[in-house]
Amino acid sequence: MNEMSTPTVASASAADLTEAERVRIMAKTARFAPPPAVLADGRKDLVGLSREELGTALAEVGEAAFRAKQVWHWIYHQGATDFARMSTIAKPTQAKLAEHFVIGRPEAAVVQTSTDNTRKFLFRFRDGQEAETVYIPEEDRGAVCISSQVGCTLSCRFCHTGTQTLVRNLGPAEIVGQFMGARDSYGEWPSPRGESPRLLSNIVLMGMGEPLYNYENVAKAMRIVMDGEGIGISRRRITLSTSGVVPMMDRAGAELGVNLAVSLHAVRDALRDEIVPLNRKYPIKELMAACRRYPSASNARRITFEYVMLKGLNDTPEDARELVRLITGLPAKVNLIPFNPWPGSPYETSTPAAINRFSQIVMDAGFSSPVRAPRGRDILAACGQLRTETKRVRAAG
Ligand code: SAH
Ligand code: SF4
Repeated sequence: MNEMSTPTVASASAADLTEAERVRIMAKTARFAPPPAVLADGRKDLVGLSREELGTALAEVGEAAFRAKQVWHWIYHQGATDFARMSTIAKPTQAKLAEHFVIGRPEAAVVQTSTDNTRKFLFRFRDGQEAETVYIPEEDRGAVCISSQVGCTLSCRFCHTGTQTLVRNLGPAEIVGQFMGARDSYGEWPSPRGESPRLLSNIVLMGMGEPLYNYENVAKAMRIVMDGEGIGISRRRITLSTSGVVPMMDRAGAELGVNLAVSLHAVRDALRDEIVPLNRKYPIKELMAACRRYPSASNARRITFEYVMLKGLNDTPEDARELVRLITGLPAKVNLIPFNPWPGSPYETSTPAAINRFSQIVMDAGFSSPVRAPRGRDILAACGQLRTETKRVRAAG
């Protein structure tokens, strides 16, 4: 951009500034790009390509357009990882595809199952980097909690991932691959048709990393899992959690329309500045305005406000009343998360009495306010405990 075209603060509209901020975020995150999804022998991974890109890749080896539809079905509906399984494709074509391509999966380096049946996967990617994925079963369904980055650039004080610097962003193949790897582990292929519930019915982008600081890759991965001819998980069953990257919230709302969860955790800027440092950039007022703009929010699809309960810090009745004031008028629900400790963590969990009192005030104001039961604490799989901890355990053992 030359000097003439650089907008000045005085003349630029708010929309221009937001767009400029988005461009800045995207440029910054590009530095942490994942490696190309190609093997050492030159074969290309088909997982993580959009439908169009899959069509192009197959056209490059001389295949007609209909082949992309078939291959997509085998990869994302049937869960095939081997071209030889693709019985609707002639053997010589299968062999040709196998010469040029692979259908990759991250390696499940460690799999641990909690006493409450929560299952944690440590997935290792092609370059040796690792991230954690957690499957949280409920009665007749369950959610796969997916990571979007290795580490995180933000350093929320109560979060174990936040003690690790950002190593890199995960690519679309690695994000979709976490879900597919978890589905392998439960033998849940082929993908269910329509909305019929299965074990792995929902996705929550609540693992390691800030999904809105890796927007392009997350968006591409979500478009793949939402595709009705493959995994087919509806946007209503996907929740993206953000610590409040305001300019990207607008984009995610307009382009993906998935459910939104916001990690609020404090109702006054002074405290939020300290425990969620991103608040210094996007303070509570701007964050709440972005929530009000979020397009798909409605009574049926409320915005979830996550609130970690920290003893003596953010758990008073005054805090609860201020929270109610902030969300009044919004289709909202509150999710109270008792703080999950991790080795060396600086906080304590609020007492059950404080949590109940807080929850009651929010409920009396008409908002649902469940207390999130910690899941998989024994295997460090609960909210905020993820960090590639297993690596150290293994190295020591
Ligand atoms: N980076 C995104 C996605 C991670 S979601 C975000 O922050 O929203 C993980 C959720 O668990 C967030 O709400 C996060 O604030 C919360 N969390 C982090 N550490 C926690 C801890 N030790 N105990 C309970 N919840 C925690
Ligand atoms: Fe990053 Fe979210 Fe942890 Fe904050 S809470 S450090 S944004 S993963």
